[in-house]
Amino acid sequence: MCNSSSFLLDTLETSGYHYLPKQREVLVKRTLQKATTLENTFKLIDHSRKINSPLLKAYWTTYYCGGAMLQEGEKFSFRRCKKKWCRTCSHIRTAELINGYKHLLEDFKEPKLVVLTMKNCPGRELKAYYQKMVDAFKLATRNITKTHGLKLNGIRTWECTYNKETDEYHPHFNVVVDTQEGAELLRSYWMNYWQSRVGAKHISINAQSIQDIQGTDGLLEVFKYTTKLAVKHEEETKAQDWIYQCTKGRRIAQSFGTLRKVKIKEKSIQVDEVKGEQGNEIWIFENDVKHYVNAHGETLVSDDEKAVYLREKQRTKELKNQPNERNNVHPQRRIERRTPSTNRSPGSSGIQTNKREGATSKHGSKPFS
Ligand SMILES: [Zn+2]
Repeated sequence: MCNSSSFLLDTLETSGYHYLPKQREVLVKRTLQKATTLENTFKLIDHSRKINSPLLKAYWTTYYCGGAMLQEGEKFSFRRCKKKWCRTCSHIRTAELINGYKHLLEDFKEPKLVVLTMKNCPGRELKAYYQKMVDAFKLATRNITKTHGLKLNGIRTWECTYNKETDEYHPHFNVVVDTQEGAELLRSYWMNYWQSRVGAKHISINAQSIQDIQGTDGLLEVFKYTTKLAVKHEEETKAQDWIYQCTKGRRIAQSFGTLRKVKIKEKSIQVDEVKGEQGNEIWIFENDVKHYVNAHGETLVSDDEKAVYLREKQRTKELKNQPNERNNVHPQRRIERRTPSTNRSPGSSGIQTNKREGATSKHGSKPFS
């Protein structure tokens, strides 16, 4: 039997010190992730039934993901769905990517976060746009190596937001790349590709951002952010389903350069080790109480533990958002604020880094195909 939650509750009540032991965090997270995923999956299933979405069966797989958790002493295991819309699996995948790439990421000289965007598109064109984006990216990295002898290392993830007002989609890449030079070349080649195809007026340099990443911690933080879900659960269900349909069978996170050589294999069974736990139990997720519950009606974690975890998470978020920490990378907030507003000609000013301005203009005026 798992009795740490009641132990913790006692500690909380008597000491008044609201603290969640690190080792318990994973159980709290699994509980919260399961609840969020389930809530979103219900919406996707309802929508899919109405429109006969080809993903209906796949959404049901997510419904069962982590539905039952087997505890054998300190080991907690469950079967996972590995789907891109599953919050639990997305978090597990990010952790696996970080573990796999950590030693290589630490060698990045001047890590940068590059956001590569293009003009918004209607839903019917999203699938084609996805493929064009992948092609443009591959072509850019290939040409940078060929023309400049520079091999880029990093990871890119594809993300898409939806504008309810205009019924348009905004697909973009978040790229972690190892050098400033690589980041700027990537932006130039990316812009050239689109300018030569859709016209310069549709591609604004302001929409393509390059941000510093401070230190290894910052890098891992950004890395976490860039490997998250392709579309946020807050987006409209219709848009979510359409985005997933358009990227069916496609990998959302793709590494390049040296990172590509690391093979990350996603396991079907997730095992979490939680030091200090004991007992053999089967924990079933009960959605009406949003808890994993055993045969005796006990919950795996307590509401207090959930509350402490969420409060701590919120506090960390607020600390990061403090305006005096200008160099502290907080990509999500900055990116969301950044929308393509002005249309500039190719190679025009707007690049923040003076050192490389000339280089960018030069590459910027060289169309490639
Ligand atoms: Zn899953």
